Amino acid sequence: PYVTLSSSDSSGKVWELEGGDSLSYFIKKKLRVWCRQPRGQWELGMIQSTSGEEAFVSLSNGNVMKVDRSEILPANPDVLEDVDDLIKLGYLNEPSVLHNLKLRYSQGMIYSKAGPVLIALNPFKDLQMNGNDYVSARSQRAMNSPHIYAIADAAYNKMIRDEVNQSIIISGESGSGKTETAKIALQYLAALGGGGNCAIENEFLQINRILEAFGNAKTSRNNNSSRFGKLIEIHFGCTGKICGAKIQTLLLEKSRVVQLARDERSYHIFYQLCAGSSSDLKEKLNLRAVSEYKYLVQSDCMSVDGVDDAKSFDQLMEALDTVRICKEDQELIFKILAAILWLGNISFQVDRENHVEVVEDEAVTSAAKLMGCTSQDLMTALCTHKIQADEDIIAKNLTLSQAIERRDAIAKFIYASLFNWLLDQVNKSLEVGKTCTGKSISILDLYGFQTFQKNGFEQFYMNYANERIQQHYNRHLFKLEQEDYELDGIDWTKVDFEDNQGCLDLFEKKPQGLLSLLDEESNLPNASDLTFANKLKHHLHPNPCFKGERGRAFRVRHYAGEVLYDTNGFLEKNRDTMSSDCIQFLSSCNCELLQLFSKMFNQSEKQSVATKFKVQLFKLMHQLESTMPHFIRCIAPNTKQLPGIYDESLVLQQLRCCGVPEVVRLSRAGYPTRMTHQEFSRRYAFMLSETNVSNDPLSISVAVLQKFNIPSEMYHVGYTKLYLRAGQIDALENTRKQI
Ligand code: ATP
Ligand code: MG
Repeated sequence: PYVTLSSSDSSGKVWELEGGDSLSYFIKKKLRVWCRQPRGQWELGMIQSTSGEEAFVSLSNGNVMKVDRSEILPANPDVLEDVDDLIKLGYLNEPSVLHNLKLRYSQGMIYSKAGPVLIALNPFKDLQMNGNDYVSARSQRAMNSPHIYAIADAAYNKMIRDEVNQSIIISGESGSGKTETAKIALQYLAALGGGGNCAIENEFLQINRILEAFGNAKTSRNNNSSRFGKLIEIHFGCTGKICGAKIQTLLLEKSRVVQLARDERSYHIFYQLCAGSSSDLKEKLNLRAVSEYKYLVQSDCMSVDGVDDAKSFDQLMEALDTVRICKEDQELIFKILAAILWLGNISFQVDRENHVEVVEDEAVTSAAKLMGCTSQDLMTALCTHKIQADEDIIAKNLTLSQAIERRDAIAKFIYASLFNWLLDQVNKSLEVGKTCTGKSISILDLYGFQTFQKNGFEQFYMNYANERIQQHYNRHLFKLEQEDYELDGIDWTKVDFEDNQGCLDLFEKKPQGLLSLLDEESNLPNASDLTFANKLKHHLHPNPCFKGERGRAFRVRHYAGEVLYDTNGFLEKNRDTMSSDCIQFLSSCNCELLQLFSKMFNQSEKQSVATKFKVQLFKLMHQLESTMPHFIRCIAPNTKQLPGIYDESLVLQQLRCCGVPEVVRLSRAGYPTRMTHQEFSRRYAFMLSETNVSNDPLSISVAVLQKFNIPSEMYHVGYTKLYLRAGQIDALENTRKQI
């Protein structure tokens, strides 16, 4: 009964009614259509009449509008308006998808499926349905409607049944809800694999608290933005019980410790410490109010609406207890944090002979005391650069900007080392037990894709990571799926999708990709951010994903949109120099942790940040490659972080990025269930009567399908596998159970 739709552009993003006659069909049947308004939004209406290329449409508000045919799309009948899987939409066009999600969102249904992908709209408010009682939520069969629980449940069952490692890959823009979604999945799996033991659930909760306190911050997009990526691997024993977990992280944004954009904050922990520490601790650390620390006041943003930093600090201390970090170590952590804050207050002056020296004030004495060195040692370390020349050590005076840079480099190094050390402690407390079968479920939650007016090195590598995830998503949902059909001899009309290989190549190609060129330029002594920008323009020029801009800027066409980058600071941040005399200075401090950090710093591993990042990212992706993926796409319905607001164009742009319409088209046309003939016959052969059983698995498969009247359009018999459309295997399973 449906009018065939064809895509009017190769990416399949816009659908039109096919042929000229279909409009009259809509008129005759009084069917509803979507009609594009002058400002781009879509309204429901009914076509009254047509004249040439134009149609007169009466809108629901009573107005009649003259519109071009190309501005009209078919709307779904009422019954198909609120479907939990977009696959079920009769007409799969953008307004229908948007309308469907909006309708559900307004009723508090934030989850929908797009074929195999779970779409999660950020509610920006607590929804009761997540609750805390996971087990009862399960028994209520929340499983039948789209939900994270259902995804986690499917992953768990597949892991047990097929003995294959699983992964839950959560992606989406900054502020779309990835971290919250990851937490819900984690808590659910903890309940499922904890065997009634709440200790594991609690431990996961506490670990998230620690990671967020030290690795999340308020940005202009998200009050609790993750500034590091993480992969949590949960290990299960053969009975399906959790026997351990491991957390891997991806590059923490350490520049945030010393430099803040307007309206943003540094890591939560600094504000929590200042607000929540006892007077006793405050005295020990010579701690002041947030407003007295230069690193924290620079952005004019010291508190977050609805966040009680003091209370969070109490919770954090409890969390540190849970992962068995002893009180002495906790105090060491706080000391280090206070030292960083005081370091930031250290200022310099230039004397008449142009020598740079540290202003001797409370900042330097406090920092030195907390770090376990004398003020003199600290001042020397900040103002001079010691170089080993043959037998001698030569001390070179630094310029003002070099001294400031060195102070900030030390602060960043200490913070990043602290973060890594904490992660080690957390991992120790999660240690994988000996009874493990080695099967696991991994949950991936990275920093989201970001675009600001001005984008720096941090956005550059974070967005690059998002390109990689997007590739993984495309590969599994489009490439592999379709290759499988072709290899198995299935007649298949290819579904196009927006391949981001070009953009990945732009980053990764050697020797002339963004990352290689950045490393090359970082190694040249006289290079600057401007020479880097020029080099990019020179080598990357005509590349469809790249555009040189005036001065130091360039643009990249990411899968999620075009981003303007400013190369200011790229080289410095990529080199990330921490000179060996600084490390030596830290090792001479009378502070256990600082000594440990300086040991952890391995000179031989001195790679650029870009290279290190790429290696870490590849390792993560490689690990994910051997797992069966479950994809969740988080969507932010507005940028105000407020409940109840559904910004259609914003949602649409995010849906387009993840190729939602294409995924739906593919899975509607595709065969989500596939089993080898061996598997299939082993499972269902017994359902046949003796006489027609042959030994050949393929013939058995076909015989089963025929005997149980599976319509021929519902399956495809490949050379090696049987391909079934959605729902068919359930029907067979039901029959199987009844026999
Ligand atoms: P980033 O890439 O910046 O880390 P993100 O995708 O991880 O962003 P979250 O931190 O998970 O985003 O979500 C942002 C905020 O949205 C949360 O702090 C919370 O207030 C709200 N939120 C997200 N998901 C949910 C949910 N399922 N229920 C209630 N609130 C949510
Ligand atoms: Mg996050």
